[in-house]
Amino acid sequence: MNNIDWGSLSFSYMKTDYNVRCYYRDGKWGELEVHSSEEVSIHMAATGLHYGQEAFEGLKAFKGKDGKVRMFRVEENAKRMHNSAVGTMMAPVPEEMFVNAVKKAVELNKRFIPPYESGASLYIRPLLFGSGGKVGVAPTDEYLFLIFVTPVGPYFKAGFKPVKMMISRDYDRAAPHGTGHIKVGGNYAASLRAGEEAHDKGYSTAIFLDSKEKKYIDECGPANFFGIKDNTYITPESSSILPSITNKSLFQLAQDMGLKTERRPIAIEELETFEEAGACGTAAVISPIGQIDDPETGKSYVFSKDGEPGPVSLKLYNKLRGIQYGDEPDTYGWNTVVE
Ligand SMILES: *Cc1c(COP(=O)(O)O)cnc(C)c1O
Repeated sequence: MNNIDWGSLSFSYMKTDYNVRCYYRDGKWGELEVHSSEEVSIHMAATGLHYGQEAFEGLKAFKGKDGKVRMFRVEENAKRMHNSAVGTMMAPVPEEMFVNAVKKAVELNKRFIPPYESGASLYIRPLLFGSGGKVGVAPTDEYLFLIFVTPVGPYFKAGFKPVKMMISRDYDRAAPHGTGHIKVGGNYAASLRAGEEAHDKGYSTAIFLDSKEKKYIDECGPANFFGIKDNTYITPESSSILPSITNKSLFQLAQDMGLKTERRPIAIEELETFEEAGACGTAAVISPIGQIDDPETGKSYVFSKDGEPGPVSLKLYNKLRGIQYGDEPDTYGWNTVVE
């Protein structure tokens, strides 16, 4: 019944047995429904299709050596989706309902959770959008909250190896008072062109600058940026950055390892002084950055000369993965065990 080649999974969609759904109608959330179909039937005038009333989340569940399944910081995803809903005038999903729905989606698809040894995991994708039809520009009154899961291998095919990124000056992902701080599909649509152009030039992703002054580092495609220098973990402060749960966790772990931590604007020129740099997010945990090119100035900022990640990035990566898989003590209660 289960003949998945766990070792060769990529970060792509695979059909699983079930997804869970819940509708918001008549001013309240209904019962959680279990579906096996991959299709969703919605009104063609749904605001999620026309006016961008849409938000999503991404988190993972991991099978440990002990056979237990752990979900990483699911409450944080619940809070963030709440903020995304408020920011786009959608009906927020109550935190408890969110967590229970994620648990249910994982439990129902247990046979798709990759074994510990594979280094793979179960990716969980909660989605919320306006499903009610509306032609005038206004929030709708019907919403669909849906969760599907899919087993995934490592996000970056080359493994934990430094990648090259380029600074994007032609496109902005988000504006200072826009929607950059919430996880909505519109931000992704706005970033796709820059990402594709970077790929075409041989880069793994585009680095976005603050859109007002074009002076500071905002994000690395759909991931947060951090740099290491002088025993300090530094990550940008900006109103258009999506608050990454991975970044927040690494920030804490860096402190626990005796590093200083700073959250403040990072000017492009400061890249020159970093000993290590990385992008972080659920998909890859850390994607070490070997080099950043700035096409406008012709400058290259090099963080890895030997093609290997820096020692601090490696240590942080191993620590966080260790916690997620249950190999390291979960001091902060970040994991939720699914029975
Ligand atoms: C989801 C996302 C991240 C990463 O957040 P995590 O909670 O660490 O997965 C970073 N930047 C953007 C723009 C995102 O959408």
